Amino acid sequence: MIRHAYATLVTNADYAMGATALVRSLKLTCTEADILVLHTGGVSQDALAPVADLGARLAPVELLPTSEAFNERHARAKLHGAAPFTKGTKPAFHTPLDNFAKLRLWQMEDYERIVFLDADTLVVRNIDRLFGYPEFSAAPNVYESLGDFHRLNSGVFVAKPAKATFEAMLARLDALDAFWRRTDQTFLESFFPDWHGLPVIDNMLQYVWFNLPDLWDWNSVRVIHYQYEKPWEDHAKVEKLKPLIELWRAYLEGRDVPDLAALPRPAGTAT
Ligand code: UDP
Ligand code: MN
Repeated sequence: MIRHAYATLVTNADYAMGATALVRSLKLTCTEADILVLHTGGVSQDALAPVADLGARLAPVELLPTSEAFNERHARAKLHGAAPFTKGTKPAFHTPLDNFAKLRLWQMEDYERIVFLDADTLVVRNIDRLFGYPEFSAAPNVYESLGDFHRLNSGVFVAKPAKATFEAMLARLDALDAFWRRTDQTFLESFFPDWHGLPVIDNMLQYVWFNLPDLWDWNSVRVIHYQYEKPWEDHAKVEKLKPLIELWRAYLEGRDVPDLAALPRPAGTAT
């Protein structure tokens, strides 16, 4: 039995679209690991049909049983007020509280390792070697400056499912007055203070394209992560991110994916 899985999370139709492009990208890497789409009741079976057709396993999950007070503190308007986003914008369909449902993957003890990927990522080269990595491995939240290396990004990580870990997480998560300003990301950073660092190419954030263009290398990038604005919405950075959005669309629509090494380099870098 395969004891390795990739997993993503989908709580509404928008992220189901993201997951469709992601699952197709994973399939193109020829991985033999299972592909799980954790989904809540917030998304219809119709919206999930494309990922099921591509061969992903649908795994229904509930949101976490967090307290009313916790849910109120992490409601969208409250969270955006208490911890405003100054670097980019979050789409209207993004519900911060839903992010915590990622933690459900620790209940899936049938798997020895799960590599979690946000629904707004694409796996453009095989990353199966991550199944040999320890818990908790994640890449730094690099998209602006060197200071970013101190923080992790929770869009790609390696986990070892264990119900005991899940229970410990729930207790810690919903402690009295606990406020996780960047939701699961802040929580995981605090729960795993000795996290192992993955290279940035395992979780290349889209803002690197225009903020740190020298870091972008089409010959080595393995995961592209469309943090903040999503490639399927109309947003202020569409022009700036055009080649990345076009690549995402090719995966979504099942078109031929271009040779990555032949793609244009970001503006401002030597050819
Ligand atoms: N997510 C979801 N519904 C939501 C919010 C988040 O399904 O309303 C899931 C989805 O997998 C998404 C991930 O949680 O990719 C994290 O949110 P997002 O990627 O929007 O955050 P960002 O990467 O922009 O910080
Ligand atoms: Mn994301």
